[in-house]
Amino acid sequence: MVLISCSNCRKVYEKENYDEFICTRCKHKVRRRTKNSLQISLALVISAMLLYIPAMVYPMMEVTKFGVSVESTILEGVISFLEYENYFIAIVVFTASVIIPLIKLIGLLIIFLSLKINVQLSNKAKNVMFHFIEAIGKWSMIDIYVVAILASVVQLDEFFNIKGGLAATSFALMVIVTMIAAHIFDTRIIWDERK
Ligand SMILES: [Zn+2]
Repeated sequence: MVLISCSNCRKVYEKENYDEFICTRCKHKVRRRTKNSLQISLALVISAMLLYIPAMVYPMMEVTKFGVSVESTILEGVISFLEYENYFIAIVVFTASVIIPLIKLIGLLIIFLSLKINVQLSNKAKNVMFHFIEAIGKWSMIDIYVVAILASVVQLDEFFNIKGGLAATSFALMVIVTMIAAHIFDTRIIWDERK
């Protein structure tokens, strides 16, 4: 006899074995573990890491200095904000668009790889890390809002011009792909016994 709960509505069933079945309450397919969730999540994290590169390398904004427009990447933009003494904006943009995505991607990669190859890291630590990453995930979209707000506010003073384009698109995609990777990942895998 085994106990299995629906991952959607949490109804608990007593079953003979772990064969999949349809939840009688919410019609969700109940499985012991989400199918291939580790493989899919790992693949998505790697894709997100690849998207991070164009987001950093291609110009995200246009900075006008002495009447001359220069296209600048996120990092160059942060430096320009510092030069114009907009420290708060510089810190917010740097944290939201450079630091948080990196922490998330590296954290997820460590968790997923530690499940693939046996690394000495306690299950509790992995679980805490995962929930931390899930929690900060919501905040990395802040950059898109910051950029959107800056685009309207900043254009008034003619120094910065935020432009969309390849970097902005890759950035948004990277954030979304990372969120899907974390969402698909079945945390119960962390607790599975490994040989
Ligand atoms: Zn259910």
